[in-house]
Amino acid sequence: MTDRNPLLRVDDLEVVASTPDGDVVLVDGVSFEVFEGEVLCIVGESGSGKSLTMLAVMGLLPVGLRVSRGSIQWRGRELVGLRDREMRQLRGRDIGMVFQDPMTSLNPLRRVGNQLAEAVRLHQRVSRREALERVHGLLRRVGVPQPETRAKAYPHQWSGGMRQRAVIAMAMANDPALLIADEPTTALDVTIQAQVMRSLAEVRASRGSALVLITHDLGLAAENASRMLIMYSGRIVESGSVREVFDHPTHPYTQGLLKSLLTGNGERAFAIPGNPPSPRDRPEGCAFAPRCPVAAGRAECFEHRPVLQLRATGASSACHFADSPSAELIEEGAR
Ligand code: SF4
Repeated sequence: MTDRNPLLRVDDLEVVASTPDGDVVLVDGVSFEVFEGEVLCIVGESGSGKSLTMLAVMGLLPVGLRVSRGSIQWRGRELVGLRDREMRQLRGRDIGMVFQDPMTSLNPLRRVGNQLAEAVRLHQRVSRREALERVHGLLRRVGVPQPETRAKAYPHQWSGGMRQRAVIAMAMANDPALLIADEPTTALDVTIQAQVMRSLAEVRASRGSALVLITHDLGLAAENASRMLIMYSGRIVESGSVREVFDHPTHPYTQGLLKSLLTGNGERAFAIPGNPPSPRDRPEGCAFAPRCPVAAGRAECFEHRPVLQLRATGASSACHFADSPSAELIEEGAR
């Protein structure tokens, strides 16, 4: 897309789970880049591989899962096979992380301020007092009122929204070049979600960090990202700028997701029928074929796996019929 060097380059990444019956592929040939200061959104249903892709990037895959193919480069340095100690240094200093449940990052038995100060001192040579002052500034920045007093409390004394702000402050403590946020607002109620996303956007923009936002919510992606990847069954099925993907979706799955966005009065007028396939039982051809309104009568869809290719719209799409106008696809599928 550009001749700038990316911060992060993921190339042909495959993640597998080892089982007694052999390896099961969970992330299948995923490639993308993240550039300085940009916001990239990875969108997909639960089980699409979006979170596993980024856990692989951070070297935090659950036990039993491993990177079996491909490359993950951070500023040109290969991360696959890097020792734990080196990965730990990279996390927190260069890459900050925010997960859905703030309690995965916060110790319930320690005061919030002390935990955040410790995160600062892990990567910076500053006194405890300087670290605490920095923490107060960060908390203020993410919208925590009276941070000096609040920092003395324990996590359970903070509301869910405030805890998530604390985790954002912790992730930003060392001015990482990249912040990865996995469903950062899913556990919060709608009004708090918007406030937390605003805090996240402000603090990220003030530091110039890039953001990879992982979400199942296409609306959240549209509001926050400049580029997006749509994942389905472990693969990228569409990628491009938010505008390209929203204005001219070329993959029937993306078209279905867009149709299923909530309407202005909070109703969902459409739901994609069926469920994604199990990774143990992925269809031979296109993984979306059993749910695709366009696939009926098209042997190609069931026999050949479509490859992600650049389309005339400017976006890339993995569909044999992506070059048909999108309206035509939907109408054809509805017949
Ligand atoms: Fe649907 Fe066929 Fe395109 Fe897959 S390749 S999304 S089944 S039309």
